[in-house]
Amino acid sequence: MAGHPGVRGLVIKEGLLWERSRKGRIGVSLPEQDVPRAELADELVGEKPALPELSEVDVIRHYTRLSTWNFGVDTGTYPLGSCTMKYNPKINEHLAGLPGFANLHPMTPESHAQGALKLMYELERDLLEITKLHAVSLQPAAGAQGELTGMLMIHAYHAHKGRQRGKVIMPSTAHGTNPASAALCGYAPVPVRISPDGIITPEAIREVMDEDTAGIMITNPNTLGIFESNIAEITKIIHEKGGLVYGDGANLNALMGYADIEKMGIDVLHVNVHKTLSTPHGGGGPGAGPVVVRDILEPFLPIPRIVKEGDRYKLVSDAPLSIGRLHSFYGNFATLARALAYTRTLGKRLKDVTELAVLNANYVKARLKGVYNLPFPQPSMHECVFNDAIQHKGGVTTLDIAKRLIDLGYHPPTVYFPLVVDGALMIEPTESESKADLDGFVEAMIAIAEEAVTDPGAVKDAPRNTRVSRPDEVRAARHLILRGEIPG
Ligand SMILES: *Cc1c(COP(=O)(O)O)cnc(C)c1O
Repeated sequence: MAGHPGVRGLVIKEGLLWERSRKGRIGVSLPEQDVPRAELADELVGEKPALPELSEVDVIRHYTRLSTWNFGVDTGTYPLGSCTMKYNPKINEHLAGLPGFANLHPMTPESHAQGALKLMYELERDLLEITKLHAVSLQPAAGAQGELTGMLMIHAYHAHKGRQRGKVIMPSTAHGTNPASAALCGYAPVPVRISPDGIITPEAIREVMDEDTAGIMITNPNTLGIFESNIAEITKIIHEKGGLVYGDGANLNALMGYADIEKMGIDVLHVNVHKTLSTPHGGGGPGAGPVVVRDILEPFLPIPRIVKEGDRYKLVSDAPLSIGRLHSFYGNFATLARALAYTRTLGKRLKDVTELAVLNANYVKARLKGVYNLPFPQPSMHECVFNDAIQHKGGVTTLDIAKRLIDLGYHPPTVYFPLVVDGALMIEPTESESKADLDGFVEAMIAIAEEAVTDPGAVKDAPRNTRVSRPDEVRAARHLILRGEIPG
C-alpha cells in the first residue's frame, strides 16, 4: 500500500474553542487609551456575551486544523459519480469575489446594478449557445429546483391548453431527484425499464405513452453514464401524443460543444452550472440550475426575466403565463459569476472539457475492467459504473471498498447509486484529473481488489487512517449535534 497519497501523521487533537479559552486572553492589541474613559449608561451595556477568550493564533489554528479534517477537490482526486467534483481555477473565485459583485445589495435598483445584470444576461446567451435552445431563466438555485421549475412549466403548459394530465414517464436510469420533482407537481411517475444495453427503447415508451401522460423526464447521459441513443425517436413518440420532454442536463460536461439539445427533441432542460461550469457540487453547497427552453415554453418561464434594451438591462415581470418567482432574490449570483468566468476563459475550448471528461471516464473504465465487475460494458460518456459482484464472493462489499479508498487518500466514488445496479460504484473522474492522478486512483482500486482476496479483514476494517473510522451514518444524519456544551 506504499505510494498512495494517504498517510498518517500530524493529525492533531482538536478540542472546542471553549476548552482553549483563558480568562483575559484577547485577539487584538490596541494602543494605550489616551483620552478620558466615557462611562456608558447601564442599559446600553447589558450582559457580557458568553464568548470564549482567545488570541488570534488560537482561532486561526483551530479553524485551519478543522479544515484539514475534510477532503475537498483542492486536496485530491474526488471521483464522486454524478457530482462532477472537478478542480475549478481560482480565477473564477477571484472574479466572483470582486467587491462590486460580492457587496451588491439584493435590493439595489436596476439602474445601479447594470454590471450584474449584464453578467447574467451574457451568461444566458452562453447557455443558449451551448444548448441551442430558445430562452432561459437563471433563477433556480440548484439542479433539483431547475427540475421543479421545468416540471411546473410543463404543468402550466398543459393547464393553458385546457387539459391537465396525470402522469410522467420516469425511466429507471433517471436521476433520483426526477421523480420527486414530478410528484411535487402532482404527477404520478410511470416507471419504464431499460434495455440490456442500459438505455431506453422506443418500444418501451410506445407502450406507456398516452394522452393522460404529461411527458417524460430523461437524464442524458443517463445515470449509468450511457448516452440515450434512441432519444430523437423517443421524444417524437412523446410529442405525437401531445406530451413534452424534460431533459436533465446536469451532466452537460458530457455533451457541451458536441450535442444539439434541440435536435434531441428536448423542450426544457436544466443545467447544473455548479458541476459543469465551475463551483464544486456536494455538501449542499451553493448552486444554480438555470432552465433552458424551446420557444413554446418561453411564456411560462419564471419572472423576472432579464431584458436588454439598447445598452441597458432591465428586470421584466410582465408575463401573464409565467409560473412566477422561485425565490425573492438572485442569491446564487456568485455561482453565476463563476460560470461566466469559466465559459469566457474557455470559449470554444469548452469542447475540450467534454472530450477530456469522456476520455478520462473511458480510461478508468478500460483499466478497471475485469478487476471490478462492469454490468454495462457499452461505451460510456463522462462516468462509468462498476459493482462489487467479484469482491462480494469473498465478503467484501462496495461500502468496504469505498472506505478503504479513504485510507489510500482518495475520495470514494458514489456508492449504491444508480439503483439499477446492485452495489454500484459510480466513478466520475472529471476532466480536471491528469493521467498520473487517474493512474494513482486506478492503482489504489486494483490494490484494494487484491487485498479483498489476500486480506479481506483489512478492507472490512477500513478506514484506519482517519480520525473517526465508521460512524453510524444513519444516526449521524438523524441526530444532528450542532453545538458543543459551553463550560459554565
Ligand atoms: C446533481 C444532479 C441533479 C441535482 O442537482 P442538485 O444541484 O444537487 O439539486 C439532478 N440530476 C443529475 C443527473 C445530477 O447529477
